[in-house]
Amino acid sequence: MGAGNYYDILGVARNADEKEIKKAYRNLARKYHPDICKEPGAEEKFKEINEAYSVLSDEQKKAQYDNMGHETYTNASKGSYTGGGGFSGGGGFSADFSGFGDIFDFFGGGHRQSGPQPGSDLLMRIQIRLEDAVSGIDRDIEVMHTEPCPACSGSGSETKRLNTCPRCGGTGQMRQVSHSSFGQFVHMTPCVQCGGKGKIPEKTCRECHGSGHTRVKRKVSVHIPAGIDSGMRLRMEGYGEAGDYGAANGDLFIEVHVQPHNRFSRSGDNLETMIEISPAQAVLGTSVDLETIDNRHIDLKVPAGVQFNTALKIAGEGVKRRGKHGDLLVRVRIITPKSVSGEQKELYQKLVELEGSSSGSGGFFSGIMGGKKKTKK
Ligand SMILES: [Zn+2]
Ligand SMILES: [Zn+2]
Repeated sequence: MGAGNYYDILGVARNADEKEIKKAYRNLARKYHPDICKEPGAEEKFKEINEAYSVLSDEQKKAQYDNMGHETYTNASKGSYTGGGGFSGGGGFSADFSGFGDIFDFFGGGHRQSGPQPGSDLLMRIQIRLEDAVSGIDRDIEVMHTEPCPACSGSGSETKRLNTCPRCGGTGQMRQVSHSSFGQFVHMTPCVQCGGKGKIPEKTCRECHGSGHTRVKRKVSVHIPAGIDSGMRLRMEGYGEAGDYGAANGDLFIEVHVQPHNRFSRSGDNLETMIEISPAQAVLGTSVDLETIDNRHIDLKVPAGVQFNTALKIAGEGVKRRGKHGDLLVRVRIITPKSVSGEQKELYQKLVELEGSSSGSGGFFSGIMGGKKKTKK
């Protein structure tokens, strides 16, 4: 995108009212109209202006936009995750979705125009494990949504025929005229008889009472691509609510949340984990048997003299995204034994004596002091 948020595009403040937004839009639209403006990029700009206005001029869209922020809103309305989505042949999968699948109307409702309405989009949130985000996973999920009524093929009419609404004459709108001291106002409201569709069933379907829709639970196979991160959304086109007879279905958005893992954490495309070694192992170097997130074993060489919190990199063992692998960073924790006994204690004692005699240049504390003195201003 690059052009920033819709308010910036229209050059208005966040608290601008309807009038100001409209005025700004008109000025810009006039300026950048492709028939008028021959500057390069004017057409792009004109499109942006229109996109911004279509959201900010609609009370409900504007509220959602303000709520979600530019990034999330535009991603959600366009289908964000270009790497993935799509369907797979799934089957035989029993997921424990009852606990956290929650579904609700997303962009639905709001300002209705006349004519057949496209179906609402649905948003569903699912949780996956970090290891599944790393490798990708196929999931079958259950979605409650509306489908065209099978009895009437979605027409709402037993005969599948529709008649023009006698009340609005097929426009779907009704004029309401009100008088006040300022003059006469004409409001357009959706027709109460046909609900704005302009058509009514010839014989109302008994199954769906004329709505043309039926609510069903449907199993949907989703391929969650490797590399997906918390908050990303997959768009399943046409898997939302059924539209009116003759109009398109809405889309289903699946928002993925990745649960924390007890051994691994994610940072971009890298994974991080931790190993614990003893002071002696840190001094001499050692090798550690490291279990990867997909339960393979790697023999990790820890070099002699390793310092606390050093990150040892294992290339290519991170998150795979769009064909590229991140790395695995292994943080080294050096654990001081809380108590030692017998021979160990004697050896540590001897070490301390040796350190004392060989520390011509100063031991641990003088090292700190020296460091302080050298500090630059
Ligand atoms: Zn009507
Ligand atoms: Zn029906």
